[in-house]
Amino acid sequence: MPGSSAESSAPCSDSFSADAHLAAAAGSPAGRLPPMTPILEARDLVKRYPLGAGEVEALRGVSLAVAPGEFVAIMGASGSGKSTLLHLLGGLDLPTSGEVVIDGISISNLNEERRTLTRRQKTGFVFQFFNLIPLLTVAENVALPFLIAGDSMNRHRQRVDELLAMVGLSAKATHRPDQLSAGEQQRVALARALATSPAILLADEPTGNLDYTTGAEILDLLWDSADRLGQTIVLVTHDASAAAYADRVLVVRDGEIRDEIDSGRRGHHEAGPLIARLAELGL
Ligand code: ADP
Ligand code: MG
Repeated sequence: MPGSSAESSAPCSDSFSADAHLAAAAGSPAGRLPPMTPILEARDLVKRYPLGAGEVEALRGVSLAVAPGEFVAIMGASGSGKSTLLHLLGGLDLPTSGEVVIDGISISNLNEERRTLTRRQKTGFVFQFFNLIPLLTVAENVALPFLIAGDSMNRHRQRVDELLAMVGLSAKATHRPDQLSAGEQQRVALARALATSPAILLADEPTGNLDYTTGAEILDLLWDSADRLGQTIVLVTHDASAAAYADRVLVVRDGEIRDEIDSGRRGHHEAGPLIARLAELGL
């Protein structure tokens, strides 16, 4: 990858604060983001994995802040630390040092039980390989967060129907995942992730296993949930055209945030300049 030109041309900011972003947003023509405290914050995250006799430093001190309703993309090459970062942001894993605060709760400092509970209440995850339960119907998969919490699907039937309609799968509620196309399976996974109206939706390469058109349908749904529902989204991707859906792109390289690009607009309809900027950075 032509990384060296990116290194020299990319301004390296130490602070990726929502305040700075919000100040910029307030001055932008859209000015759409209200001044609020961040809904998600990472403070100086370091993550080391044991490897053989030594260790790998997957994250080398990452700080970021996401404002409520923001759609942020985290972009970088394979192995740059994107998934590690997303897992820490969502409380799926713990940092070696540093802290993650979701909606005012420092999840890194909770015991495992409280952290799991907070993760279920505050976050929704979408993964590259859908992770649906094969034995459950489409509707039951969407209702899974409620079933895990000990509720019945009947109690949440209206919500499940609403989510199925949102992703265009009302007619397939009683199907099993293996009766669906890959794109349809990812739409089920997205509906499931949104079921509890989480404070943040975290998506790790959600289009990585889909063809271009099907992937674009998923990105349109993500964008729609940000635009219509004010859903806060953090999207991990190595694809510039996917990242271009976001309000802001954080560029990760070798376990660090190396650049930040504000799209200056909401949505992907004028994605050209952002894609061009990412191309300049070798992404
Ligand atoms: P990305 O999602 O950007 O491809 P990852 O976050 O998966 O990157 O990985 C970042 C680095 O950490 C890579 O060098 C990877 O090999 C390493 N890594 C990730 N997970 C583990 C793990 N569980 N054990 C050891 N090394 C890991
Ligand atoms: Mg990854």
